[in-house]
Amino acid sequence: MRLIKTALFLCFLIVLYSCKSDKKTKNLGHEKAIEIVPVNHGTLVIKSENYNFYVDPVGGADKFSNYENADFVLITDIHGDHLNIETLQALNLSNTTVIAPKAVVNKLPKNIAKTVVTLNNNDTFGDDNLKIEAIPMYNLREEALNFHTKGRGNGYVINLNNQRIYISGDTEDIPEMRNLKNIDIAFVCMNLPYTMTVESAASAVLDFKPKKVYPYHYRGKGMMGDVYAFKNKVNTKNPDIDVVLLNWYN
Ligand code: ZN
Repeated sequence: MRLIKTALFLCFLIVLYSCKSDKKTKNLGHEKAIEIVPVNHGTLVIKSENYNFYVDPVGGADKFSNYENADFVLITDIHGDHLNIETLQALNLSNTTVIAPKAVVNKLPKNIAKTVVTLNNNDTFGDDNLKIEAIPMYNLREEALNFHTKGRGNGYVINLNNQRIYISGDTEDIPEMRNLKNIDIAFVCMNLPYTMTVESAASAVLDFKPKKVYPYHYRGKGMMGDVYAFKNKVNTKNPDIDVVLLNWYN
C-alpha cells in the first residue's frame, strides 16, 4: 500500500513538473514570437516583444483600434494605399517614430508624430537592437516605369530579435530584391498593372529564398493576383519556402 502511495505521489510530481516546464517553454516562445496582422492590401501590423510596427497605415484609425499604439510607423510611398494623412492624424503618434522616404516626409504635416525620420534608399536607422534598412522599390517594365520611379519609395528590412523581415513596398523583381540575404519573413507585392506579375514575384522569391513569404498587395486593376498560383510556382521549385496565404481583403 505504502509503495502504491509513493508511486502515485511520484506520478503526481512528474505531471506537475511537466505542466510547469510546458508553461515555461510556451511563454518563452511567445516572448520571442513575431506576430503578423494583415490589415488590408499593403497595410499590416507587426508585433514583437518590444515593438509595435504599423506599415503603411491607411483606411482610418479604427482599423488599428485593437492594437497598441505604434512605436514605429513605416511608410513606403506617396500613393493613397500607402500614405493617408487623415489616418495618421487620427492615430495616437505621440510616442511614435515615423520612418519614410523624403517624398513622403515632404507631404507630412508638421508635428504629426513624436519623431519623423527621413530614410532614403539604402539608408539605415537604428542599432544592433533594432535596425531598419531602406531598400529600393521601382518598376522595370517599360509601360509601368511611371508608377514607381526609382529612388522615390522604400521597401524595408526590419532586423529584430535576430530575424530579418522584408517588406517589398510597390516594386517589380528588381536586383535589390533578388540579392537580399538571410530573410526570415518577406511580404511581396504582386498586382497588375502597378507592381509585378505572379511569375516575376515567384522568380524573385526563388532567388532570395526567404524562410517564409506572405503574398500581400495583390489587388490589381479589375483583378486579384493569383496567390495560389504564386504558392504553386514557388513550392514546385522550392518546397522549403513557407508560403503563407492570409486574408488581406475582407
Ligand atoms: Zn500600392
